[in-house]
Order: sequence, then C-alpha cells, then structure tokens
Amino acid sequence: MPDVTIIGAGPAGLTAARVLVQAGVRDVQVLERNPQPGGLPRFCDHPGWGVWDLHRFYNGPRYAAELVRRAAGANIRTNVTVTALGEGGTLHLSTIDGPEVLEGGIVLLATGIREKPRGARLVSGTRPWGVTTTGAFQEMAQAGQIPFRRPVIIGSELVAFSALLTARHAGIKPVAMVEPGPRILARRPGDLFARAVFGVPVRTNTRLVAIQGIDRVEAVVLERNGQCEEVPCDGVIFTGQFTPEAWLPRSAGLEIDPATGGPAIDNFFRCADPAYFATGNLLRPVEHSGFAALEGARAATQILRALRGELPDAAAAIPVTAGGAMRYIYPQRVILDGTQIQLFGRAVHAHKGRLRVMADDTLVYERLIKVLPERRISLTLPGAALAGHKSLSVILD
Ligand SMILES: Cc1cc2nc3c(=O)[nH]c(=O)nc-3n(C[C@H](O)[C@H](O)[C@H](O)COP(=O)(O)OP(=O)(O)OC[C@H]3O[C@@H](n4cnc5c(N)ncnc54)[C@H](O)[C@@H]3O)c2cc1C
Repeated sequence: MPDVTIIGAGPAGLTAARVLVQAGVRDVQVLERNPQPGGLPRFCDHPGWGVWDLHRFYNGPRYAAELVRRAAGANIRTNVTVTALGEGGTLHLSTIDGPEVLEGGIVLLATGIREKPRGARLVSGTRPWGVTTTGAFQEMAQAGQIPFRRPVIIGSELVAFSALLTARHAGIKPVAMVEPGPRILARRPGDLFARAVFGVPVRTNTRLVAIQGIDRVEAVVLERNGQCEEVPCDGVIFTGQFTPEAWLPRSAGLEIDPATGGPAIDNFFRCADPAYFATGNLLRPVEHSGFAALEGARAATQILRALRGELPDAAAAIPVTAGGAMRYIYPQRVILDGTQIQLFGRAVHAHKGRLRVMADDTLVYERLIKVLPERRISLTLPGAALAGHKSLSVILD
C-alpha cells in the first residue's frame, strides 16, 4: 500500500500529489478512472485556467498537462476506478487487469463533481438524440464529434459561458441561453457579453417545460409568465446544477452533509473515518479550478502532519452549523486548537444582511454582507476567541 493514495487526478488531486512528493513522501499514488489524468479541465478548450494557483494563463488541456508535469514523482495510474471504500483506508479497485484491493495508508478523496443530467431535472417530453450536459458536449467537441448546430443552453452559471465558448470554437451558434431566475447566475455583464459577442440572447425568468423531437431534438417548449412558446432548435445543453461525485464516501457510510452533498470534514480535511481526507469540488459544488487546486495543497499539508502524527484527535471536534439564509457551511466540524479557523459557505438566495457567528451563546464575529447564491462566503475566526466552546453556528440574518 502506498503511503498516500489520492482518488481523482483533477486539479485538487494532482496539486495534492505535487505537495506530498515535494515534501519527500516517497510513495504517492493517484488513481484516475479516465484514460488520461487532468480532470475536468482536459475537456475545456478555452482560457481561464491556472491564474490563481499557477499564476499563468492556460487553456484547460494545457493547464491539465502542466498539473500532471508538476506532479512528477507521483505514481499516476489511469483507467483505474475505485469502486468501494473500506474501513481504515482499504480501497477496492477495478482496473483493466481485473479487480484489486489496496489496504491501509492514508486516502485523499478528490473525485470532483458532476452536472445534473436531464433525468434528474424531471424535464418532460420525448427522448430524442442531442441532449447533453456541458461536460459531455465538451468531450464530444474535443473528439471532433459535433452533436448539434443550434442548441439551447439551459442555465446561466459560469459553466454555461464555458459551453458558449466551446460552441463558438466548434462553429456552433446556440439559439438561446435560458435561466429560470430573474438574472444570470454568473457575474454581470455576462448576459450582455453573450448577446453582443456571441449573438446569443439570454432569456431570464424562463423555464424549460419540454423537449420535442422523435429521432433528434426539433424544438423546446419554454414558459415565461405562464405563456408557453415553442422554440425550434436541434439540441439541448444542460449546464450547471452540480453535485459532488460522492457515491464512494456515501456508500461507505462516511458522514455526508446533505446541504453540500459532499462528505463532512473537520478543519484538517478529515472525513468521519480519519483514514480518509477529502478535498476539491467533492466538498461542495462548485468552485473554480484555482480554488480547488489550492484546497488540494491545503489538504496535502494536513496529510503531511498526519503522517508525522501531529494532528489532534478527531474525536475532539465540535459541530459547525449554518442558520438563517446560509445554505451550507464547511468544514462541518472544527477542533479548537488555538489557531485561526477558516469557514466557507454559500447563501440560499441573493441576500443583503448581517453575517454572524455564535460560539455557543456568545457572538464572536459579525459583518454586514451582500451576497449572491453562487458566490462563496469566506470567514476567518481568531482561534483565541473560540477556546472552550462546544459548538459554532454561522447565521445570515
Ligand atoms: C464545463 C466546465 C467549465 C469550467 N470552466 C472553468 C474555467 O474556465 N476556469 C476554472 O478555473 N474552472 C472551471 N471549471 C471548474 C473546474 O473544472 C473545477 O473547479 C476543477 O476541475 C475541480 O477540480 P477537482 O480536482 O476538484 O475535480 P475534477 O476536475 O472534477 O477531477 C476529479 C477527477 O476524479 C476522477 N474520479 C471520480 N471518481 C473516481 C473514481 N471512483 N475512481 C477514480 N477516479 C475518479 C474523475 O474522473 C476526475 O478526473 C469548469 C467546470 C466545468 C464543468
């Protein structure tokens, strides 16, 4: 068994591997189910990668290649799917040479996210060809297989704009971008940008009701203010609505936070079984690659401490809960060892108000805040103010 096994060769897993190798850990293994390492960026052939973590501009595939290059020294095994987690770090693998079991050692889960497909979105209508998620569309486009010419894009998170960029690169002109809410979820003026630069209208307050077509998509039915309209098109790209790829920890019975959809961790990135650590987008949907990569580095730093026997007993953790308009908060447990505590969360909806942290019944932090649901809320609490308390709650009033 390697000293550390990382599941997932995306930005978080590869960055963690680099930090561990550079710190002198001799046997670091990265397991990746795809034929190539690199994670999601491999399929996003547009710029916008590497700025935060590598301080350079890359397109997705180049960024992925650079992460792999920097993780030299780690044993990256591709075409290996981890199928189950056992107690104390035992891993069940499916490889092209057959099943395999790895026992013992520290395991870092970095399996990322996936987009909600059509089935999970309960969209009615027929089941024609030409309905994809952004990830599947980008994978097809990279392989030169263009599934449609005039799709509609459903959703307006940043990833919808990634779909727009890929479409442009592939010579495809989407018919519209459709957002059920009153404004786009990505930063403005993304909507003006979509219309002016790509010639794609953004329809807000609009819902996809049905997909029509027998063999191929022929139209979608959109609803706005109770009025339905049939819009001709030849494909549908579902974007966003991400969920952590958490079936491994879930089926192993590790605690899952229903609010994030990812494994609950402590402030040392440890899951309920301290043989398992978790990092990157698996922790919550969805951050950009730079944040996920730096999170991988932070998790690796804690793993180094675990290997040296320096981490405090996991049983000493106290719970952190979210209240008011907070959708979630993580880490979900913290050990108050006198050092600063960093917490991250998101709001349920666009909100202007007061963010406060209660340690038991004592107010230990507050600030005025204006947030959108897709923006991260970060807060750093001074360790000294928290000593002796039994719980923390983060409340958005
Ligand atoms: C369409 C799209 C466009 C994006 N555009 C940008 C952008 O322009 N800039 C930016 O900074 N960010 C962008 N992002 C976000 C970025 O992709 C993520 O932040 C980043 O990839 C997260 O890294 P990660 O390592 O946590 O997960 P991932 O990159 O998802 O990597 C997880 C890896 O784990 C592997 N895996 C999962 N389960 C198993 C298993 N059981 N066994 C073995 N391997 C497994 C997966 O195959 C995958 O390779 C985009 C995301 C999407 C979906």
